[in-house]
Amino acid sequence: MDEMRIFGPVPSRRLGKSVGINNIPPKICTYSCVYCQLGRSLKMVMNRHAYYDPDELLTETTKKIQNASFNNEPIDYLTIVSDGEPTLDANLGQLIVRWLI
Ligand code: SF4
Repeated sequence: MDEMRIFGPVPSRRLGKSVGINNIPPKICTYSCVYCQLGRSLKMVMNRHAYYDPDELLTETTKKIQNASFNNEPIDYLTIVSDGEPTLDANLGQLIVRWLI
């Protein structure tokens, strides 16, 4: 399991305490913006691709939530916030829908 796929809860200026779900590998993006806080893109792509198993991400997220609850750390939001462009994940819809059912 890659621990960095799920991180937090971290303070967010807009969202209070947020748990981040990193749904694609580092620096895969459509662009390579010079101001990117993540650095230069390692792989520039335009087509969506399935990177991680959404069920694994959900299991890891659930564990993170349980640990935060055990440690009395409040969580205001879950955010899908990648080290790249999260919408390049072909499983993004499945990941979101699984939280709704
Ligand atoms: S992650 Fe955002 S800021 Fe960074 S290169 Fe991609 S589009 Fe630009």
